[in-house]
Amino acid sequence: MAGLRAKDRARLAAQRLAPLYPAVSELVHRDAFQMLVATILSAQTTDRSVNAVTPALFAKYPDAAALAHADPLEVEAMIKPTGFFHVKAKTIIACSAALVERFHGEVPPRIEDLVTLPGVGRKTANVVLGVAFGIPGFAVDTHVTRLTRRLGLTKNTDPVKIEAEVTRMLPPEEWTAFSLRLILHGRRICVARAPRCPECVLNDFCPSSTVRAKSRRRRLTATPAGVRLPHGRGTAARRPPAPRH
Ligand code: SF4
Repeated sequence: MAGLRAKDRARLAAQRLAPLYPAVSELVHRDAFQMLVATILSAQTTDRSVNAVTPALFAKYPDAAALAHADPLEVEAMIKPTGFFHVKAKTIIACSAALVERFHGEVPPRIEDLVTLPGVGRKTANVVLGVAFGIPGFAVDTHVTRLTRRLGLTKNTDPVKIEAEVTRMLPPEEWTAFSLRLILHGRRICVARAPRCPECVLNDFCPSSTVRAKSRRRRLTATPAGVRLPHGRGTAARRPPAPRH
């Protein structure tokens, strides 16, 4: 698996993760409006905490028109468990008002329009496009940033550049699913502090795999006659000089 190009690693990772994770968001929603609001609320918190507050929120404010005219203090109280509730309440109310004013209360299915809404960046826009509309979008959150860097698909930290790079490696029909699966893999296996590489299905080609690093170290110590190649490339047995002709 050594020597794979970044594009090959991206395709292989997409293939391997496909049978393991459904290409779904864990945010509970019924339509594009709910998905948009839930995604904004999910900043800096878990999907579980968002799912705990949205049923009551959407029961009271089922669409953009209702939420646009909501009392901010009431909204704050309802979404408090998601954290940053003051800013988030202000944002989802402003976003709903913008939907009413500029898009007849509907969520627009175009990234160019979505990113003009208050509190909506490319990550949120791509999630909504992919999950609510089935339109290809590669959302780059903290998990996707970490995994694409560990997998050697990018050296960038800027989500916009990562999105541009990875979407050049995969066909559009794989963008949404790959992003959603990377997020799930990042939550369950390739976690931030101590990635669980021995359990990871990508560990035979991931440049950051600790499994490979350990096995390389084992090979080094198990080859007494070997010499270390320059630049940490492993070992090579000493060979006799080539015969002269
Ligand atoms: S092998 Fe390790 S570092 Fe690489 S993707 Fe898997 S868990 Fe993450």
